[in-house]
Amino acid sequence: PPHRCSVIIVGAGISGLTAAKVLSENGVDDVVILEAADKIGGRIRKEKFGGVTVELGAGWIAGVGGKQSNPVWELALQSSLRTCFSDYSNARYNIYDHSGKIFPSGIAADSYKKAVDSAIQKLRSQEANHHEDASILAETTSAPKTPIELAIDFILHDFEMAEVEPISTYVDFGEREFLVADERGYEHLLYKMAENFLFTSEGKIMDSRLKLNTVVREVQHSRNSVLVTTEDGSFYEANYVILSASIGVLQSDLISFTPPLPRWKMEAIRNLDVMVYTKIFLKFPYKFWPCEPEKEFFIYAHERRGYYTFWQHMENAYPDSNMLVVTLTNGESKRVEAQSDQDTLREAMEVLRNMFGPDIPKAADILVPRWWNNRFQRGSYSNYPIYANHQLVHDIKEPVGRIFFTGEHTSEKFSGYVHGGYLSGIDTTNALLEEMRRDDGMKNESQAFL
Ligand code: FAD
Repeated sequence: PPHRCSVIIVGAGISGLTAAKVLSENGVDDVVILEAADKIGGRIRKEKFGGVTVELGAGWIAGVGGKQSNPVWELALQSSLRTCFSDYSNARYNIYDHSGKIFPSGIAADSYKKAVDSAIQKLRSQEANHHEDASILAETTSAPKTPIELAIDFILHDFEMAEVEPISTYVDFGEREFLVADERGYEHLLYKMAENFLFTSEGKIMDSRLKLNTVVREVQHSRNSVLVTTEDGSFYEANYVILSASIGVLQSDLISFTPPLPRWKMEAIRNLDVMVYTKIFLKFPYKFWPCEPEKEFFIYAHERRGYYTFWQHMENAYPDSNMLVVTLTNGESKRVEAQSDQDTLREAMEVLRNMFGPDIPKAADILVPRWWNNRFQRGSYSNYPIYANHQLVHDIKEPVGRIFFTGEHTSEKFSGYVHGGYLSGIDTTNALLEEMRRDDGMKNESQAFL
């Protein structure tokens, strides 16, 4: 017989856990949380590497110091998470060419201005495109060509659009970003949060309502209930389901729906882009790079866009860890996920030798996360087109009968961020609670009628 409860939550990342918290605060404790992975956290995931804790997924709390307080920053303060301020603004003065020369700040500044102008033009032409009058502007857009322009264009588009286009995260919560550098991991704030509504002992969640290693494969839904089938052949029946699986998972065939999701929903899911973002960690026997705080971020300008472009040393976060991080995205991420880590190490070393000379030591260890090939993720985060119409996000988050959607990808203002996941968990659950009250009201009415 199926396990019966009031609400099934699929996924124990920040959005699923926040949903459970809000339900509990409203007296709905009769829930079960089904999580495919072997631990909570989802895209908040730490690993021990080279003697320290590294974050394979979310690393920063983005949007701090503004008029409004970022709720994830509040959670970090409550759980006394150790963080350090990231000053990206220096990165543009630490641009290396393939022979190891740092571009003079004048050239860097000019290229930077050119790349920003080109990005703004591109945006305008997209906007015009949106209004079906793109021709003139599109022609005037000058594409970045030189290695330094390509590198800056990559940084602007694949990381920071803030200088080109106002981003809600920075407008609402402030422009500062803090790197989580805590041995307990970013996930520590999730465990702290979970203590409020799940039974925990000595920092471990012992609550039988949380089922780890439980992969949802089918959601059958009708007017009256939902029936969820898991990979191990178990059944769970409930009045409602909150589904927090990522947009990449929704695009895959991991979960089937019976009856199938309506066309408008499937189309919206298909139309939302998935971004792959990969942080590769390299551990060295000793440091050979400049370790000053203002050298934390540095850029490699290559003729191939996005080729080991964006680097960070870990001295600010973990002094003497002798660690570098390089970030790849999209096509480059997929490419390195498909090859052996030894091949990736070879490529990274070649780039480092170009920057710092032939005598640098070889990395002792490498860590390559694989978010694209992870069947419970299928990518790193959702990426709405800049001039996405309001309809797309509306359709992504709109419930289908008793299935309620949540997660970073359902956040209109903060998709792609931890706080987007958190706020979406609250929004979705409030909508569900309203629906439950309506449902109860109707039942009471029909009972009164009978
Ligand atoms: P998830 O955390 O993915 O939770 C969904 C859960 O559902 C997962 O645990 C998954 O295992 C589970 N699941 C999926 N399918 C099934 C199934 N069939 N059955 C059962 N369970 C299932 N954000 C920031 O704010 N700052 C950053 O610096 C930052 N950097 C990032 C870097 C990387 C590499 C990545 C990958 C993400 C980054 N993000 C960052 C984004 C942030 O991590 C996410 O937006 C947020 O964690 C998403 O939370 P979520 O609850 O929506 O989804």
